[in-house]
Amino acid sequence: MSSSPNSKPLRKTIGFRLTAWYSTIFLFSAILLFGFSYFYISISLKKQDRRAISAQLKQLASLYAVGGLDYVERNVTAPRKFEQEKPFLVRIGNPKNETQLLILPTQWMEFDIKRLESISGKNGVTWTSLRSKNGKTAFELATTRLPDQSILQVGKGVRDRWKILEHFRRYFLLILAPLVVIALAGGSLVAFRALRPIRHIITAVRSATLGKMDTRVASTGTDDELGELVTLFNEMLNRIETLIEAMRDALDNVAHDLRTPMTRLRGIAELALRSDKNPEGCREALVKCMEESEHILKMLDALMDISEAQMGAMKLNCERIDIGDVVNHIGDVYGYIAEDRGVSLNIRAPKGIWAHADPTRLYQVISNLLENALKYTPRNGSIDVDAAADENEIVIAVKDTGIGIPEEELPRIWDRSYRGDQSRSQSGLGLGLSLVKALVEAHNGRVCVSSRPGKGSTFTICLPAAEP
Ligand code: ADP
Repeated sequence: MSSSPNSKPLRKTIGFRLTAWYSTIFLFSAILLFGFSYFYISISLKKQDRRAISAQLKQLASLYAVGGLDYVERNVTAPRKFEQEKPFLVRIGNPKNETQLLILPTQWMEFDIKRLESISGKNGVTWTSLRSKNGKTAFELATTRLPDQSILQVGKGVRDRWKILEHFRRYFLLILAPLVVIALAGGSLVAFRALRPIRHIITAVRSATLGKMDTRVASTGTDDELGELVTLFNEMLNRIETLIEAMRDALDNVAHDLRTPMTRLRGIAELALRSDKNPEGCREALVKCMEESEHILKMLDALMDISEAQMGAMKLNCERIDIGDVVNHIGDVYGYIAEDRGVSLNIRAPKGIWAHADPTRLYQVISNLLENALKYTPRNGSIDVDAAADENEIVIAVKDTGIGIPEEELPRIWDRSYRGDQSRSQSGLGLGLSLVKALVEAHNGRVCVSSRPGKGSTFTICLPAAEP
C-alpha cells in the first residue's frame, strides 16, 4: 500500500491506517448488528413463550372456576388428536401450597419439583426462571393465586428457545472468519483506490523535483475532493512550467538585449584607455560611458518589468481610481512638452470613470503612448487623448496625426526591442509598446492600434470597469 516501497514502514502508511480503520469499523458494525439481532430474537422468543404460558394459565384458571380441580385434571390429561407431547407443566397447590395436582411433561424430569412448593404467587402473575438439575436447560414458570387462594402454576421449558439462539451464535462464529477476510480485503481495496491519485501526485512531484516538469497526474474522472486536488495540482504544475519557461526566456532576452549596449560600453572604455587622450578626451569618454550605463539601466528596468508582467509575477497595487484624474494629470505634465514641440494636445477625460488598477502602472502605460505620439508627430500636428466608459469597459484612446506605421510593421511593434524603420532617427529602446501591452494585459485589459502611414495612429486601451 506504500507509494514507494523503500520509503517508510508499512504500518506508518496512510494506506495501512485506512485499511485498519475500515476493517475495525466494518467488524465492529457486524458485531454490533449481530448483538442487536441476538438480543432482539432472544427477547421475542421469551415474549412468545410467556404469551403461550399466560394463555394456558388463563384457560386453566377458567376451567378451575367452572369445575374445580377434577375438571382441570380431566381437561388437561384428556388425549387430543395430533398432540405429540404436552409441553406445559401444570401444578395446582392448596392455599398452603401443598401439591393437589401435578402434570409433568418429560422434560421436567430433570428438575427438582420440590422447589415449586416454595414459590407461592401473589396477586397477579409471578414469573420465575428455574434451572434444571444439570444446568443444561431452564424453565419459565408463571404462578398465580386462584380466587379460592389455591395456587396455579404453569411452566414451559426453554430448550427450543436456547437451541435457536445457540444456532444463531454458531452461525455467527462461522461467518466471522470470512467477515474478517472481507473486512481486510475491502479495507485494502478502498485504501488502494482512494489513495491512487495521491500516489500519482507523489510520482509527479518526484519527477518535478528531478527537473521533469511535463509530468501530469491522470484525472480521476470524479467530481470529488481528490478529483479537485488533481485538477488544482495539474494547474499548479502548468503554472510553474509556464513561469519557468518565461523566466528562462526572460533571462535569454535580457542577456541578448544587454549584449550590444554592454559591448558598446566596453568599446568606449577600451578606446579611451588605448588612446593617449588628454584629460578632456577621457572626460568625454566617461560621459559617454555614463550615458550608456544609464541606457542599460533603463533597458534592464523595462525588460524586468515586461518579464514580470508577462509572467504574472508583477505585484500590482490595484485600487479604485478615477481614470479622468489620471489622464488629466498626465495631460498637464505633457502639455508643456507638446507646446514646446509645436503640437496641440487635447485631453477629453471626464471625471468619474472608475477603474480597479495600479495607478503608477496605468500612469506608465498612458505616458508611454503619449511620449510615442509626441515623438512621432511632427510640428503643427495634434494629439487627442479621449477617455470614456460604458457599464463594462473603459476605453482610453491616444490619437495622433504623426508619421503612422506601415501595415507590415503593425504586428511587430509589440515585440520586444522592435523599432520601426522610420523611427531610427528618434531616441528609444524599442521596449515601450511591449511594456504597455504587458501592463495592460496584467490588468486584464487589451490594447490595439490602427494606423495609416503619413496620416497618424490611434492606440486604444480597453480596461475592465470597476464594480460600482
Ligand atoms: P520606441 O518608440 O522606443 O522605438 P516602442 O516599443 O515604443 O519603441 O515602439 C515600437 C515601434 O512602434 C516604434 O519604433 C515605432 O516604429 C512604432 N510606433 C510606436 N508608436 C508610434 C506612433 N505613435 N506613431 C508611429 N509609430 C509608432
